[in-house]
Amino acid sequence: MACQQFDTVADHLQMSESERPRLKYPKRSVIVSLPINCEDGSTKVYTGFRVQHHLTLGPTKGGLRFHPDVTLGEVAALAMWMSWKCALTGLPYGGAKGGIACDPHRMMPREVERLTRRYTQEMIPFIGPQIDVMAPDMGTNEQVMAWFMDTYSMYRGGAVPEIVTGKPVELGGTLGRREATGRGVAFLVARALERLGVKAGGATAIVQGYGNVGAIAAREMVSRGLKIIGVSDHTAAFHDPAGLDLDALDAHAAKTGALRGFSSEALADPAGLLTLKCDVLVPAAVERVIDARNAGELKCRVLAEGANGPTTPEADLVLERRGGDVFVIPDILCNAGGVIVSYFEWVQDLQQYYWGEAEVNERLYKALDRSLGLVEARARKDGVSNRTAAMAIGVERVRKAVGLRGLFP
Ligand code: GLU
Repeated sequence: MACQQFDTVADHLQMSESERPRLKYPKRSVIVSLPINCEDGSTKVYTGFRVQHHLTLGPTKGGLRFHPDVTLGEVAALAMWMSWKCALTGLPYGGAKGGIACDPHRMMPREVERLTRRYTQEMIPFIGPQIDVMAPDMGTNEQVMAWFMDTYSMYRGGAVPEIVTGKPVELGGTLGRREATGRGVAFLVARALERLGVKAGGATAIVQGYGNVGAIAAREMVSRGLKIIGVSDHTAAFHDPAGLDLDALDAHAAKTGALRGFSSEALADPAGLLTLKCDVLVPAAVERVIDARNAGELKCRVLAEGANGPTTPEADLVLERRGGDVFVIPDILCNAGGVIVSYFEWVQDLQQYYWGEAEVNERLYKALDRSLGLVEARARKDGVSNRTAAMAIGVERVRKAVGLRGLFP
Protein backbone atom coordinates (compact mmCIF):
# COMPACT_ATOMS: atom_id res chain seq x y z
CA MET A 1 0.00 0.00 0.00
CA ALA A 2 2.83 2.42 0.87
CA CYS A 3 4.61 1.47 -2.38
CA GLN A 4 1.41 1.89 -4.38
CA GLN A 5 0.90 5.37 -2.92
CA PHE A 6 4.55 6.19 -3.65
CA ASP A 7 4.14 5.10 -7.29
CA THR A 8 1.02 7.27 -7.67
CA VAL A 9 2.98 10.27 -6.42
CA ALA A 10 6.09 9.41 -8.47
CA ASP A 11 3.88 9.24 -11.59
CA HIS A 12 2.37 12.59 -10.67
CA LEU A 13 5.86 14.08 -10.24
CA GLN A 14 6.93 12.46 -13.55
CA MET A 15 9.81 10.78 -11.78
CA SER A 16 11.98 8.55 -13.99
CA GLU A 17 12.04 4.80 -13.28
CA SER A 18 15.74 4.98 -12.42
CA GLU A 19 15.19 7.57 -9.70
CA ARG A 20 12.43 5.69 -7.86
CA PRO A 21 14.27 2.86 -6.07
CA ARG A 22 16.52 5.21 -4.09
CA LEU A 23 13.48 6.91 -2.61
CA LYS A 24 11.44 3.78 -2.20
CA TYR A 25 13.67 1.12 -0.62
CA PRO A 26 14.49 1.36 3.06
CA LYS A 27 18.10 2.13 3.88
CA ARG A 28 18.37 -0.36 6.73
CA SER A 29 16.09 -3.20 7.82
CA VAL A 30 16.98 -5.03 11.01
CA ILE A 31 15.40 -8.20 12.43
CA VAL A 32 16.39 -9.43 15.88
CA SER A 33 15.53 -12.43 18.05
CA LEU A 34 14.66 -11.44 21.59
CA PRO A 35 14.84 -14.21 24.19
CA ILE A 36 13.41 -13.35 27.61
CA ASN A 37 12.79 -15.21 30.84
CA CYS A 38 9.05 -15.36 31.52
CA GLU A 39 7.48 -15.11 34.97
CA ASP A 40 6.39 -18.77 34.81
CA GLY A 41 10.03 -19.87 34.55
CA SER A 42 10.00 -20.57 30.80
CA THR A 43 12.06 -18.81 28.15
CA LYS A 44 10.36 -17.26 25.15
CA VAL A 45 11.86 -15.83 21.97
CA TYR A 46 10.14 -12.84 20.34
CA THR A 47 10.97 -11.22 17.00
CA GLY A 48 11.77 -7.51 16.80
CA PHE A 49 12.15 -5.22 13.80
CA ARG A 50 13.47 -1.77 12.98
CA VAL A 51 13.37 -0.22 9.52
CA GLN A 52 15.17 3.07 8.80
CA HIS A 53 13.83 4.42 5.54
CA HIS A 54 16.32 7.15 4.66
CA LEU A 55 19.20 8.90 6.42
CA THR A 56 19.57 11.84 4.04
CA LEU A 57 18.35 14.69 6.25
CA GLY A 58 19.38 13.71 9.77
CA PRO A 59 18.56 10.89 12.16
CA THR A 60 15.62 8.65 11.42
CA LYS A 61 12.56 9.08 13.61
CA GLY A 62 9.54 6.98 14.36
CA GLY A 63 7.65 4.89 16.84
CA LEU A 64 8.09 1.44 18.34
CA ARG A 65 4.98 -0.78 18.14
CA PHE A 66 4.09 -3.79 20.30
CA HIS A 67 1.35 -5.77 18.57
CA PRO A 68 0.83 -9.45 17.66
CA ASP A 69 0.46 -8.65 13.93
CA VAL A 70 3.73 -6.71 13.55
CA THR A 71 5.72 -7.87 10.50
CA LEU A 72 8.75 -6.57 8.61
CA GLY A 73 6.51 -5.44 5.74
CA GLU A 74 4.21 -3.46 8.00
CA VAL A 75 7.13 -1.79 9.76
CA ALA A 76 8.73 -0.93 6.40
CA ALA A 77 5.51 0.71 5.18
CA LEU A 78 5.16 2.68 8.41
CA ALA A 79 8.81 3.79 8.14
CA MET A 80 8.22 5.09 4.62
CA TRP A 81 5.15 7.05 5.75
CA MET A 82 7.23 8.57 8.57
CA SER A 83 9.67 9.87 5.93
CA TRP A 84 6.98 11.74 4.02
CA LYS A 85 5.39 12.92 7.30
CA CYS A 86 8.66 14.41 8.59
CA ALA A 87 9.47 15.98 5.22
CA LEU A 88 5.97 17.45 4.81
CA THR A 89 6.13 19.10 8.23
CA GLY A 90 9.71 20.31 7.72
CA LEU A 91 11.43 18.17 10.38
CA PRO A 92 15.13 17.32 9.87
CA TYR A 93 14.52 13.57 10.01
CA GLY A 94 14.16 10.52 7.84
CA GLY A 95 11.43 8.04 8.68
CA ALA A 96 11.73 4.86 10.73
CA LYS A 97 9.49 2.42 12.55
CA GLY A 98 10.11 -0.49 14.86
CA GLY A 99 8.05 -3.24 16.33
CA ILE A 100 7.95 -6.44 18.30
CA ALA A 101 5.44 -9.16 17.46
CA CYS A 102 3.93 -9.61 20.92
CA ASP A 103 0.73 -8.92 22.84
CA PRO A 104 1.66 -6.61 25.73
CA HIS A 105 -1.86 -6.95 27.21
CA ARG A 106 -1.28 -10.67 27.78
CA MET A 107 2.19 -10.26 29.28
CA MET A 108 3.28 -9.51 32.84
CA PRO A 109 4.70 -5.95 33.26
CA ARG A 110 8.13 -7.40 34.15
CA GLU A 111 8.11 -9.39 30.91
CA VAL A 112 7.31 -6.25 28.90
CA GLU A 113 10.20 -4.52 30.69
CA ARG A 114 12.64 -7.37 29.92
CA LEU A 115 11.52 -7.45 26.29
CA THR A 116 11.94 -3.68 25.92
CA ARG A 117 15.41 -3.78 27.49
CA ARG A 118 16.52 -6.72 25.34
CA TYR A 119 15.24 -5.01 22.18
CA THR A 120 17.10 -1.80 23.10
CA GLN A 121 20.27 -3.79 23.77
CA GLU A 122 20.00 -5.55 20.38
CA MET A 123 19.44 -2.19 18.64
CA ILE A 124 22.52 -0.48 20.11
CA PRO A 125 24.64 -0.87 16.96
CA PHE A 126 21.93 0.78 14.86
CA ILE A 127 20.61 3.68 17.00
CA GLY A 128 21.82 6.92 18.57
CA PRO A 129 20.60 10.48 19.13
CA GLN A 130 22.06 11.42 15.72
CA ILE A 131 21.24 8.11 14.01
CA ASP A 132 17.79 6.87 14.97
CA VAL A 133 15.43 8.09 17.70
CA MET A 134 12.42 5.99 18.73
CA ALA A 135 9.07 7.01 20.28
CA PRO A 136 5.80 5.41 21.40
CA ASP A 137 3.39 3.85 18.91
CA MET A 138 0.61 1.28 19.22
CA GLY A 139 1.03 -0.83 22.39
CA THR A 140 3.89 1.21 23.85
CA ASN A 141 3.86 4.17 26.24
CA GLU A 142 5.95 6.50 28.40
CA GLN A 143 7.03 3.67 30.71
CA VAL A 144 8.37 1.66 27.76
CA MET A 145 10.30 4.74 26.62
CA ALA A 146 11.70 5.16 30.15
CA TRP A 147 13.06 1.57 30.12
CA PHE A 148 14.46 2.19 26.65
CA MET A 149 16.20 5.37 27.81
CA ASP A 150 17.53 3.65 30.94
CA THR A 151 18.96 0.68 29.01
CA TYR A 152 20.73 2.92 26.49
CA SER A 153 21.98 5.25 29.24
CA MET A 154 23.41 2.31 31.22
CA TYR A 155 25.36 1.29 28.13
CA ARG A 156 26.69 4.83 27.61
CA GLY A 157 27.49 5.37 31.28
CA GLY A 158 25.38 8.51 31.76
CA ALA A 159 21.85 9.75 31.15
CA VAL A 160 21.06 10.14 27.43
CA PRO A 161 17.46 11.46 27.33
CA GLU A 162 17.78 12.40 23.65
CA ILE A 163 17.90 8.72 22.60
CA VAL A 164 14.10 8.49 22.71
CA THR A 165 11.04 10.79 22.74
CA GLY A 166 7.67 10.39 24.42
CA LYS A 167 9.43 9.80 27.76
CA PRO A 168 7.97 10.77 31.12
CA VAL A 169 8.49 14.50 31.76
CA GLU A 170 10.51 13.58 34.87
CA LEU A 171 13.16 11.98 32.60
CA GLY A 172 13.45 14.79 30.07
CA GLY A 173 10.19 14.27 28.21
CA THR A 174 8.41 17.39 27.00
CA LEU A 175 5.17 18.79 28.32
CA GLY A 176 2.40 18.20 25.78
CA ARG A 177 3.91 15.18 24.01
CA ARG A 178 1.37 12.66 25.31
CA GLU A 179 -1.51 14.83 24.07
CA ALA A 180 0.20 16.09 20.91
CA THR A 181 -1.17 13.65 18.32
CA GLY A 182 -4.79 13.92 19.50
CA ARG A 183 -4.49 17.68 19.90
CA GLY A 184 -3.17 17.98 16.37
CA VAL A 185 -6.06 15.89 15.01
CA ALA A 186 -8.63 18.14 16.74
CA PHE A 187 -6.88 21.31 15.56
CA LEU A 188 -6.91 20.14 11.93
CA VAL A 189 -10.53 18.97 12.21
CA ALA A 190 -11.51 22.48 13.36
CA ARG A 191 -9.61 24.00 10.42
CA ALA A 192 -11.25 21.61 7.95
CA LEU A 193 -14.75 22.40 9.30
CA GLU A 194 -13.97 26.12 8.92
CA ARG A 195 -13.05 25.55 5.27
CA LEU A 196 -16.34 23.71 4.69
CA GLY A 197 -18.31 26.42 6.45
CA VAL A 198 -19.51 23.99 9.13
CA LYS A 199 -19.68 25.33 12.69
CA ALA A 200 -17.61 23.26 15.14
CA GLY A 201 -20.18 23.94 17.86
CA GLY A 202 -22.65 21.07 17.69
CA ALA A 203 -20.86 19.23 14.86
CA THR A 204 -20.80 15.45 15.42
CA ALA A 205 -17.80 13.13 15.47
CA ILE A 206 -17.16 9.38 15.56
CA VAL A 207 -13.83 8.05 16.77
CA GLN A 208 -12.59 4.53 15.98
CA GLY A 209 -9.82 3.51 18.38
CA TYR A 210 -9.69 4.73 21.97
CA GLY A 211 -5.98 4.66 22.72
CA ASN A 212 -3.67 7.63 23.21
CA VAL A 213 -4.63 9.19 19.87
CA GLY A 214 -8.39 8.51 19.74
CA ALA A 215 -9.21 9.26 23.38
CA ILE A 216 -7.34 12.57 23.39
CA ALA A 217 -8.64 13.58 19.95
CA ALA A 218 -12.17 13.00 21.30
CA ARG A 219 -11.51 15.15 24.38
CA GLU A 220 -9.94 17.92 22.35
CA MET A 221 -12.80 17.92 19.83
CA VAL A 222 -15.27 18.26 22.70
CA SER A 223 -13.30 21.25 24.01
CA ARG A 224 -13.72 22.77 20.54
CA GLY A 225 -17.50 22.33 20.73
CA LEU A 226 -17.98 19.04 18.86
CA LYS A 227 -20.19 16.23 20.11
CA ILE A 228 -18.81 12.66 20.18
CA ILE A 229 -21.64 10.38 19.06
CA GLY A 230 -19.64 7.19 18.50
CA VAL A 231 -16.50 5.49 19.80
CA SER A 232 -14.99 2.03 19.53
CA ASP A 233 -11.91 0.08 20.51
CA HIS A 234 -10.89 -3.54 19.86
CA THR A 235 -13.41 -4.77 22.47
CA ALA A 236 -16.62 -2.81 21.78
CA ALA A 237 -18.37 0.01 19.89
CA PHE A 238 -20.90 2.53 21.19
CA HIS A 239 -23.21 4.97 19.44
CA ASP A 240 -25.44 7.61 20.99
CA PRO A 241 -26.80 10.42 18.77
CA ALA A 242 -27.32 12.54 21.91
CA GLY A 243 -23.57 12.42 22.62
CA LEU A 244 -21.47 10.08 24.75
CA ASP A 245 -20.28 11.02 28.23
CA LEU A 246 -16.47 11.06 27.87
CA ASP A 247 -15.84 11.39 31.61
CA ALA A 248 -17.77 8.19 32.26
CA LEU A 249 -16.14 6.50 29.25
CA ASP A 250 -12.62 7.43 30.41
CA ALA A 251 -13.34 6.33 33.97
CA HIS A 252 -14.56 2.95 32.67
CA ALA A 253 -11.55 2.55 30.35
CA ALA A 254 -9.13 3.48 33.18
CA LYS A 255 -10.74 0.92 35.50
CA THR A 256 -11.11 -2.02 33.10
CA GLY A 257 -8.43 -1.26 30.51
CA ALA A 258 -10.93 -1.25 27.62
CA LEU A 259 -14.37 -0.02 26.52
CA ARG A 260 -16.20 -3.38 26.79
CA GLY A 261 -19.02 -3.27 29.33
CA PHE A 262 -19.39 0.52 29.31
CA SER A 263 -23.08 0.51 28.38
CA SER A 264 -25.66 -1.94 27.15
CA GLU A 265 -28.03 0.61 25.54
CA ALA A 266 -25.47 2.36 23.34
CA LEU A 267 -23.87 -0.84 21.96
CA ALA A 268 -23.19 -0.64 18.21
CA ASP A 269 -21.74 -2.78 15.43
CA PRO A 270 -18.00 -1.95 15.28
CA ALA A 271 -17.76 -2.17 11.47
CA GLY A 272 -21.01 -0.26 11.00
CA LEU A 273 -19.77 2.60 13.17
CA LEU A 274 -17.59 3.89 10.33
CA THR A 275 -20.51 4.40 7.98
CA LEU A 276 -22.90 6.14 10.38
CA LYS A 277 -23.86 9.73 9.63
CA CYS A 278 -21.57 12.28 11.27
CA ASP A 279 -19.64 15.42 10.41
CA VAL A 280 -16.22 14.06 11.34
CA LEU A 281 -14.93 10.49 11.21
CA VAL A 282 -11.62 9.80 12.98
CA PRO A 283 -10.11 6.36 12.33
CA ALA A 284 -7.47 6.21 15.10
CA ALA A 285 -6.70 2.51 15.31
CA VAL A 286 -5.12 0.13 12.80
CA GLU A 287 -4.40 0.27 9.06
CA ARG A 288 -6.79 -0.43 6.16
CA VAL A 289 -10.16 0.01 7.87
CA ILE A 290 -11.56 2.11 5.03
CA ASP A 291 -11.46 0.06 1.87
CA ALA A 292 -13.24 -0.37 -1.46
CA ARG A 293 -16.22 -1.96 0.30
CA ASN A 294 -17.10 0.83 2.75
CA ALA A 295 -15.55 3.98 1.17
CA GLY A 296 -18.68 4.57 -0.90
CA GLU A 297 -20.81 4.32 2.25
CA LEU A 298 -19.03 6.94 4.38
CA LYS A 299 -21.44 9.66 5.48
CA CYS A 300 -18.94 12.08 7.06
CA ARG A 301 -17.89 15.51 5.76
CA VAL A 302 -14.34 15.25 7.14
CA LEU A 303 -12.21 12.12 7.30
CA ALA A 304 -9.45 12.84 9.83
CA GLU A 305 -6.87 10.04 9.69
CA GLY A 306 -5.52 9.75 13.23
CA ALA A 307 -4.12 6.28 12.46
CA ASN A 308 -1.35 5.55 9.99
CA GLY A 309 -2.64 4.08 6.74
CA PRO A 310 -6.36 3.70 7.60
CA THR A 311 -7.49 4.20 3.98
CA THR A 312 -6.50 1.84 1.17
CA PRO A 313 -5.55 3.14 -2.31
CA GLU A 314 -8.72 1.49 -3.66
CA ALA A 315 -10.79 3.46 -1.14
CA ASP A 316 -8.96 6.62 -2.21
CA LEU A 317 -10.16 6.01 -5.78
CA VAL A 318 -13.75 5.60 -4.56
CA LEU A 319 -13.49 8.84 -2.55
CA GLU A 320 -12.07 10.66 -5.58
CA ARG A 321 -14.91 9.35 -7.76
CA ARG A 322 -17.37 10.72 -5.22
CA GLY A 323 -16.15 14.13 -6.32
CA GLY A 324 -14.54 15.34 -3.14
CA ASP A 325 -17.65 15.41 -0.91
CA VAL A 326 -15.43 14.09 1.90
CA PHE A 327 -12.59 16.39 2.99
CA VAL A 328 -9.70 14.02 3.73
CA ILE A 329 -7.00 15.09 6.19
CA PRO A 330 -4.39 12.50 5.18
CA ASP A 331 -2.57 10.55 7.90
CA ILE A 332 0.88 12.04 7.27
CA LEU A 333 -0.60 15.44 8.08
CA CYS A 334 -3.43 14.53 10.46
CA ASN A 335 -1.37 12.57 13.00
CA ALA A 336 1.87 14.54 12.53
CA GLY A 337 1.38 16.35 15.86
CA GLY A 338 3.07 13.44 17.62
CA VAL A 339 6.31 13.54 15.72
CA ILE A 340 6.36 17.35 15.63
CA VAL A 341 6.31 17.48 19.43
CA SER A 342 8.79 14.58 19.51
CA TYR A 343 11.09 16.85 17.54
CA PHE A 344 10.54 19.60 20.14
CA GLU A 345 11.39 17.08 22.87
CA TRP A 346 14.62 16.05 21.12
CA VAL A 347 15.64 19.71 20.65
CA GLN A 348 14.95 20.45 24.34
CA ASP A 349 16.98 17.38 25.43
CA LEU A 350 19.92 18.33 23.22
CA GLN A 351 19.90 21.87 24.61
CA GLN A 352 18.97 20.90 28.18
CA TYR A 353 16.55 23.81 28.05
CA TYR A 354 12.87 23.08 28.63
CA TRP A 355 9.79 24.91 27.38
CA GLY A 356 6.38 25.52 28.94
CA GLU A 357 3.32 23.67 27.59
CA ALA A 358 1.80 26.82 26.05
CA GLU A 359 4.93 27.31 23.96
CA VAL A 360 4.88 23.66 22.84
CA ASN A 361 1.23 23.92 21.76
CA GLU A 362 1.66 27.24 20.00
CA ARG A 363 4.58 25.91 17.95
CA LEU A 364 2.67 22.69 17.25
CA TYR A 365 -0.37 24.50 15.87
CA LYS A 366 1.82 26.81 13.81
CA ALA A 367 3.61 23.85 12.21
CA LEU A 368 0.33 22.03 11.47
CA ASP A 369 -1.33 25.14 10.07
CA ARG A 370 1.60 25.80 7.76
CA SER A 371 1.56 22.20 6.52
CA LEU A 372 -2.22 22.20 5.98
CA GLY A 373 -1.89 25.43 3.98
CA LEU A 374 0.80 23.86 1.79
CA VAL A 375 -1.29 20.73 1.19
CA GLU A 376 -4.42 22.68 0.27
CA ALA A 377 -2.52 24.97 -2.09
CA ARG A 378 -0.80 22.04 -3.76
CA ALA A 379 -4.04 20.06 -4.14
CA ARG A 380 -5.66 23.07 -5.79
CA LYS A 381 -2.69 23.87 -8.05
CA ASP A 382 -2.15 20.28 -9.25
CA GLY A 383 -5.81 19.24 -9.21
CA VAL A 384 -5.08 16.21 -7.00
CA SER A 385 -6.38 14.77 -3.74
CA ASN A 386 -5.12 16.02 -0.38
CA ARG A 387 -3.24 12.73 0.08
CA THR A 388 -1.40 12.98 -3.23
CA ALA A 389 -0.64 16.64 -2.53
CA ALA A 390 0.71 15.92 0.97
CA MET A 391 2.83 13.04 -0.26
CA ALA A 392 4.05 15.02 -3.27
CA ILE A 393 5.40 17.74 -0.96
CA GLY A 394 7.11 15.17 1.28
CA VAL A 395 8.55 13.06 -1.54
CA GLU A 396 9.75 16.13 -3.42
CA ARG A 397 11.66 17.44 -0.40
CA VAL A 398 13.44 14.13 0.13
CA ARG A 399 14.08 13.82 -3.60
CA LYS A 400 15.76 17.25 -3.67
CA ALA A 401 17.95 16.44 -0.66
CA VAL A 402 18.99 13.08 -2.12
CA GLY A 403 19.86 14.79 -5.42
CA LEU A 404 21.91 17.52 -3.74
CA ARG A 405 23.91 15.08 -1.64
CA GLY A 406 24.66 12.99 -4.74
CA LEU A 407 25.91 9.43 -4.71
CA PHE A 408 28.88 8.22 -2.66
CA PRO A 409 31.47 7.13 -3.78
N1 GLU B 1 4.43 6.78 16.38
C1 GLU B 1 4.11 8.12 16.04
C2 GLU B 1 3.82 8.25 14.56
O1 GLU B 1 3.46 7.30 13.91
C3 GLU B 1 5.12 9.14 16.56
C4 GLU B 1 6.51 9.00 16.06
C5 GLU B 1 7.52 9.89 16.80
O2 GLU B 1 7.11 10.68 17.61
O3 GLU B 1 8.70 9.76 16.51
O4 GLU B 1 3.87 9.31 13.99
